[in-house]
Amino acid sequence: MSNVVGVLAIQGDFHKHTESVIACGHPAEDILEVKTPEDVSKIDRLIIPGGESTTVGLLLERFGTAKAIQGKTSSGMPIWGTCMGMILLAKSVEDRKQFTLSLLDITVRRNAFGAQIHSFEAEVPFSKLDEPILGVFIRAPVVTEFSSEVEVLSKYQDQVVAVQQGKILGTSFHPELTHDIRLHKYFLNL
Ligand code: GLN
Repeated sequence: MSNVVGVLAIQGDFHKHTESVIACGHPAEDILEVKTPEDVSKIDRLIIPGGESTTVGLLLERFGTAKAIQGKTSSGMPIWGTCMGMILLAKSVEDRKQFTLSLLDITVRRNAFGAQIHSFEAEVPFSKLDEPILGVFIRAPVVTEFSSEVEVLSKYQDQVVAVQQGKILGTSFHPELTHDIRLHKYFLNL
């Protein structure tokens, strides 16, 4: 059975995710940088990195890549969004009209901890891991509403910073910017 990991490579820190997936022992030739609908047809799971959600959302919609991702996810493809990626997976974004994939039944608040200079690192508990994980928060979003289908995996200062709904995972922070590959392993096994 093929297990091609796609990393959305329109903009943002996608190289870091590729490095983490390789560090998990996944063969480099089974990782695909995804831009087009055709790329989506070749993958078995997808990671959406950090970046600028407004720009990337617009391009996903314009090139039809969004439709392809939505189609594959509805037939069970696992997908993980970090930071911008979680925003793009959300059903809605607080106080804004912007394109999202609408695959996770959550509402997010963008830049919930302030501007770029308010970026920080903090240890956060993660219910699927035995030990806490170092969360790197860069203009990070938080989840402000979620349906009963959604499992909360992590909270920081009482704010929801990681969720899962079926095989769809969203984290406010960036595990790809640390050397800790436990979350990548978790995702690869979903
Ligand atoms: N604040 C960015 C956005 O709203 C996300 C930042 C990130 O991915 N590091 O798109």
